[in-house]
Formats: sequence, C-alpha cells, structure tokens
Amino acid sequence: MTDTEATDDWCLPDDREAVRNALIEWYEADHREFPWRRTDDPYEILVSEVMSQQTQLDRVVDAWEGFLERWPTTADLAAADRAAVVGFWTDHSLGYNNRAKYLHEAARQVEDEYDGEFPDSPDELQELMGVGPYTANAVASFAFNNGDAVVDTNVKRVCYRAFDVPDDDAAFEDAASDLMPHGKSRVWNNAIMELGGVACTQTPRCDETGCPWREWCSAYASGDFTAPDVPTQPSFEGSRRQFRGRVIATLREYDELELDALGHRIRVDYAPDGEYGREWLEGLLGDLVDDELVEIERGDDGVRARLRR
Ligand code: SF4
Repeated sequence: MTDTEATDDWCLPDDREAVRNALIEWYEADHREFPWRRTDDPYEILVSEVMSQQTQLDRVVDAWEGFLERWPTTADLAAADRAAVVGFWTDHSLGYNNRAKYLHEAARQVEDEYDGEFPDSPDELQELMGVGPYTANAVASFAFNNGDAVVDTNVKRVCYRAFDVPDDDAAFEDAASDLMPHGKSRVWNNAIMELGGVACTQTPRCDETGCPWREWCSAYASGDFTAPDVPTQPSFEGSRRQFRGRVIATLREYDELELDALGHRIRVDYAPDGEYGREWLEGLLGDLVDDELVEIERGDDGVRARLRR
C-alpha cells in the first residue's frame, strides 16, 4: 500500500514517515530500562519473553538475572536437571511450571537440532517447544531484527484509538504491518509496545507522556478514548484533554485560525469574555505551545493559532 492509499475501513496518515519517525524518536529519547532491551542474544530474550507471559515486568528483572546467572547459555540449560529448572520457576513465582519445562526442552532442541544456534525467523522459532507465534516474533524482532509487526493488546489499543482501526484481528495485523518501517522490527516493536504500555494505557496519558501521535490521533481529537479492552470511556480529571484534542483537530482542518474563530469551533458555549472565552482558550493554547504542538502569533488583528510544523 502506498502512503496515500486508504484501506476500506480506516486510514493511516498520509505522512507515514513522519508518524514512524515521531514514535521512534519518542522511544529513543526515553523508555523504561529493562535489561533484556540491552541484549540481542536470542536465548536471553526468549527467557525474558517466557517469564513475562504471566509475571509483571518489574518482577521479572530479578528472576531473569538469576536464571541467566545460573544457566547462562542454552548449553547450560540443556544440561540442567529439569527439576532444578522447575524449582527455580516455583521459587520465583513465575506461573505455570510447564513454561519452565518447555524452556528447558527448547534449549535442548537448540543444542541438538540447531547446533547451538537459534534459528532467526518467526516460522522456524515456532518449531521450538512452547514457542507460539507471539514469542517467536518477539525473539525474531529483538534478537535478529527480523520479525513482523507485533500485535498485542497494547498495540491494538493504540491502533484503534489513534487510527480508528476496527476491532478485528485481520485489520489490526494489516495496520500494524503497514505502520512498521521495513527492516526495523527491533526498534519499532519495542517503541509501539512502549507507547501502549506507558502512554496509551487504559486510561491514556497522552499529554503527561508527550505522546508523539497526538497530532494524528483520532481519539485525542474526539475525546473518545474507548478501546477494545476499554469498553466505557475512562474517566479523566476534567475535560481539558478533550478540548486540547479538538484544538488540534480543528487547526489541522483550517491551518490557521483567529482566537475567537477557533473558540467557536471547539465549544458551543464559547463566549469571548465569558467563563469559557479568550482567557480560557489562551490557557489551553499556552499548554499546547509548551508541548510544541501549536504556535501562536500576536498581531494587530489579534491572536492567531496554527499547528506547529
Ligand atoms: S494521543 Fe493518547 S489516545 Fe492517542 S495514541 Fe497517544 S496516548 Fe493513545
């Protein structure tokens, strides 16, 4: 699909490159530091993925470090006594023991069937015991930069809110693949999962986290933050967020507007000298200027606002 084509049901922004770059820059500027994000060793990544299937990421860190200290390579794990591996799993409250057994078995497969070298494609990785499509793709992405776009609950929520992708697995797959820059699955999948994990959470934190997609986001513009896993509107402190979204959406439509013209377009009860008038709107615009989303110009004919380019 080219940058200007739309699908039947939704439309990704024309400027796909800007959307991609904004997210990657946002991720690279700041993100949660998990130790497995600093490695491209497929074994270490597989262990982190299996552990985090049932355990909160913060709690996985200690377990992951302890596991790799004890069994640093697939060869070490393959040679381990299965009871010891299962015992470690239980001691660290990592969920179903079967996962420990599968991990142990997968290490043996890597040693016996692949000469100690992990396969690098999602399809081949799925041949390993206990490795399903999601985990295979995560290992292919984070270890080999060779994965497809990850589609998990967080990614679905982001796509649904930002680009109106319908609640349909095939649509999510298409949208996520179309968004991902070619050959960049490592950084991309980390970045979009981070967006869903810290910014586009069930109660979204669009402004607090400086979400890089506010400019394009349909939910931010409309104020409707429901999602497949958020069936009713999450509650916010006040509705300021919604009006910020409307300002962005309106300025996208009109390029530039004088203060009162903008005010009347974003709320029906706008009255220049009233409670929701110029002073209120200038405050709202001031926040958007601070966030580098909007710029304002003061001239003889009043204040004019436009989106920052
Ligand atoms: S602007 Fe808000 S709702 Fe939209 S993608 Fe960002 S965090 Fe999610």
